[in-house]
Amino acid sequence: MLYTFISIQFLLMRCLKLLDLHTHTTASDGLYTPTELVLMAKEVGLTTIAITDHDTTDGVEEAVKCGEKCGVRVISGVEISVSDNKEMHIIGLNVDIKNEALKKVCDEIKGDRSARRQRIVDFLAEKGVDILLTDVAKLAGDKLIWRPHFAMAMVNAGYVKSVDEAFRLYLDTPEFQKIERQKPTAEEAIKLINDAAGVCVLAHPGRLSFSPAELDNWLEKLKGFGLKGLECYYSTHTKEQTRLFLELAKKHELLVTVGTDFHGDKIKEKIKLGTGIDNNLKEVKLALPF
Ligand code: AMP
Ligand code: MN
Ligand code: MN
Ligand code: MN
Repeated sequence: MLYTFISIQFLLMRCLKLLDLHTHTTASDGLYTPTELVLMAKEVGLTTIAITDHDTTDGVEEAVKCGEKCGVRVISGVEISVSDNKEMHIIGLNVDIKNEALKKVCDEIKGDRSARRQRIVDFLAEKGVDILLTDVAKLAGDKLIWRPHFAMAMVNAGYVKSVDEAFRLYLDTPEFQKIERQKPTAEEAIKLINDAAGVCVLAHPGRLSFSPAELDNWLEKLKGFGLKGLECYYSTHTKEQTRLFLELAKKHELLVTVGTDFHGDKIKEKIKLGTGIDNNLKEVKLALPF
């Protein structure tokens, strides 16, 4: 009897954990390879996962192959940082990864990111933080270098106690913005994703520090550019924020999405794949129209 009860509970829990439409792999600043991430998704009971690496779709093909083998639906995605606001990120879901214009912009962003590496080293050195680019490159597995890799190098060298502290004191300051890389505008990013047959979603509206009225205006504007969805459910959103975002999504007729922004424990320590922070996204059930 008890066994049956536990089994039913277990089955129900598995059904509830359906989607995670915002995750990162080693193709950008995630800790796990696309294959590892899909296997983890399978293990935690997700049926669908979107790979939304920053400014690249390089991890998608490997993830799709693994998903086909182990029975997890993998959606090809991308998360593009835009220049309108430092926390404004546009997610493209179900994008055509072979689209030439998208590939070209992603390649340009990659080039610009490489040029920024030395600017960051010099910026930190001016502040008395001496970090070797070779050490940071090692942490990045000799692939592209991201700010979290600099943050980890700073932790390892004892300049800060945590990745969060590195961002707060050095890597996420107004001064840092002066050495920041070039980014497309929201209008450009949305057009790019739409042209690549993707569904455009505004990521983590709760991180935008807009008032409800400002967000309302922005959604009007972004919808005019071709925005189709809003990431109402997100790891760091409070219940009140989620409620507001659901209302705004309804008002602007936007698709509601859910995403943890999973990167792996050393980078975003509290965020778990599929369930968010302290299981806050565990009960979210959504159906996708694509
Ligand atoms: P980059 O594109 O190199 O500027 O790196 C941006 C990445 O840094 C974001 O995608 C986040 O994953 C990460 N990031 C930003 N702020 C923080 C933070 N406070 N703690 C950990 N990671 C962060
Ligand atoms: Mn990231
Ligand atoms: Mn983001
Ligand atoms: Mn993200």
